[in-house]
Amino acid sequence: MTGPRPTAPRQVPVLVAGGGPSGLAAAIELGRRGVRVLVVEPREVLDPLRARAKTTSVRTMEHLRRWGLADELRRRAPLPVAHAQDVVFCTSVFGRELTRFPHAFGLWTEPRDIAAEAGQQVPQPVVEQLLRDAVAELPSVTLLLGSRVAEVVDGPDGVRAVVAGPDGTTTEVQADYLLGADGGAGVSRAAIGARYAGSSGTAPNLSLAFRSRTLDERPPCALGVHWWVVGGERGGLMGRLDLDGLWWAIVQG
Ligand SMILES: Cc1cc2nc3c(=O)[nH]c(=O)nc-3n(C[C@H](O)[C@H](O)[C@H](O)COP(=O)(O)OP(=O)(O)OC[C@H]3O[C@@H](n4cnc5c(N)ncnc54)[C@H](O)[C@@H]3O)c2cc1C
Repeated sequence: MTGPRPTAPRQVPVLVAGGGPSGLAAAIELGRRGVRVLVVEPREVLDPLRARAKTTSVRTMEHLRRWGLADELRRRAPLPVAHAQDVVFCTSVFGRELTRFPHAFGLWTEPRDIAAEAGQQVPQPVVEQLLRDAVAELPSVTLLLGSRVAEVVDGPDGVRAVVAGPDGTTTEVQADYLLGADGGAGVSRAAIGARYAGSSGTAPNLSLAFRSRTLDERPPCALGVHWWVVGGERGGLMGRLDLDGLWWAIVQG
């Protein structure tokens, strides 16, 4: 971070709890219209090894295009669309290809009439950094990193929120609107009385990032953007994060 850490304004039209992709996108949309927005996000630094999303869909790419960010995202993406466009289903990573979904997620190398942009394989932290950079260009948006919304109370004149800084100090913020983009572990969901329904899957998913040179020497069953292993002892999916030996995998069970 360069320059002094921004401080939370005491009063703001829109408070966005959570500076993940949704919160940052909302701030860009509002900020481009001159609406004053405060975004509060606990993660100061983005972890490149916690990728979560690896593919940005055509519709999201169209929003990025509207904001003038699509080309820059493609420039920053460590995997070009031209590298691979198909999701391959196989018996094991080195086994037999069963079937494939061509051009999954709208990964096209040539323009199509149905969308203004193709999809793009790109790790989520790269997308989030691009959105953070775009937010920094908007004078009406304040992005407060390292802080969290600790409490929100809805009232007749808007929302009263308590923002906790990295050192534990708190600031009370009055907002006309709260935009809850703080996920399941945040405070917005509880404040509106929402709760999860249903139950989790019987087998957990283990999500990991790893380095392997061996996979370059002994490539998986066929060229793909993802490999989905089905019918084996253990199912899961895998793909490249870049062309330099970094991979991701989600193992089921
Ligand atoms: C394994 C995996 C793979 C995925 N793959 C894809 C994919 O390929 N393509 C795709 O489009 N999507 C994918 N997704 C989904 C994608 O990651 C989510 O849709 C996306 O992160 C949602 O963004 P969000 O901003 O709504 O929520 P989040 O990303 O969950 O952001 C919530 C934010 O709120 C912050 N926060 C939490 N508590 C507080 C608080 N008290 N105060 C303030 N802020 C708070 C958090 O730090 C976080 O930054 C995947 C998800 C997973 C888990």
